[in-house]
Amino acid sequence: SLGDFRKLGRMGGVTLGFFLFTTMMALTIGLVLTNLIEPGALLSDTDRAILLGSFTASSVMSNAAEAPSMLDQLVSIVPTNPFGSLARGEMLQIIFFATMIGIAFTLMETKKAKVAVSLFESLNDAMVVLVHVAMKLAPFGVAALLFEVVGNTGLGVLIALGAYGGVVILGLLLHITITYMPVVKFYAGLPFLGFIRAIRSALVLAFSTSSSSATLPVTMEACESNLKVNGEVTSFVLPIGATVNMDGTALYQGVAAIFIAQIYGIDLSLGDQATIVLSATMASVGAAGVPGAGMLTLAMVLAAVGVPVQGVALIIGVDRILDMFRTTTNVVGDSTATVLVAKIQGNPIGVVSPEEDAADPTAGMEGRLDDVQPNPVDLDSE
Ligand code: ASP
Repeated sequence: SLGDFRKLGRMGGVTLGFFLFTTMMALTIGLVLTNLIEPGALLSDTDRAILLGSFTASSVMSNAAEAPSMLDQLVSIVPTNPFGSLARGEMLQIIFFATMIGIAFTLMETKKAKVAVSLFESLNDAMVVLVHVAMKLAPFGVAALLFEVVGNTGLGVLIALGAYGGVVILGLLLHITITYMPVVKFYAGLPFLGFIRAIRSALVLAFSTSSSSATLPVTMEACESNLKVNGEVTSFVLPIGATVNMDGTALYQGVAAIFIAQIYGIDLSLGDQATIVLSATMASVGAAGVPGAGMLTLAMVLAAVGVPVQGVALIIGVDRILDMFRTTTNVVGDSTATVLVAKIQGNPIGVVSPEEDAADPTAGMEGRLDDVQPNPVDLDSE
């Protein structure tokens, strides 16, 4: 829907620059906090023995990716078989191919391209409706997940890992306040709480599904109808953001790497910490927007600084809970990028007012399904 694909260059540059900058900020915050608070040193020796003993390398570890080289990662973005990539859920490859097809549509005769474009539009709308239905079930699912985690892990270990989890959550909150709030407030000129309220349906879904990809349609809708961001901007920034911009994931990986090193009693030099910043930036880009993806690519970060990769097993127990918080942060980051890019493009944005919101009960803050009235199709007249 960009129409003129030359706009991709300008928008792409701003978007990727912002993504990179905020990821670095997130990692810096995470590393400073973990070095100051030292959650790994807070563990008692008994807790340490329980943790190291009970979590040996699990099946999750065998899935952990071997660190691919930067060049390999770049080259693999071009899919040899786009349908294979679709089937395997390889997001970067899918996005690359979709971008190419999209560019082709803008170069074609408009009349011919319109057929396919409106097909994709209605498929997208159908996905939004499906996600809204799933959202109704989310509270029950979350309760069941939490029971499972506490039941399997036991409260003692949860408390021991609490310090580590606390540092991750504190870091995420700081990142939202230090990095995103000034951009939303001073650059985009939106009240920060109003901004959060406008995207809250996406945040609730991100928190309960731990998946930025599953949240994507709702994030797009929230940014478009509640923040009045142009569809051109949301349909460019948000799909890329949901895949490559994971500040929450990067921050968590930084904290986890140092926490695991602290448990093993490994001292990390300043150079090692710089390596963590670089590798966690790539690992967060490489992580898919699905639950637990950040924990799999964490193996890359650990390998880069010589911390035993088996250490991931130590934090599996609380990962699901932290995933909820980091995914929510990821979605705040993507939405912040959207209002920033819209502002730079000179598009008008603003938090929808209660009156405007009430004027159209099928869109806006209430979410689509809540107020949708059955709309029977009159078959005779069709
Ligand atoms: N679940 C996260 C997301 O979808 C990725 C991760 O950190 O595991 O954004």
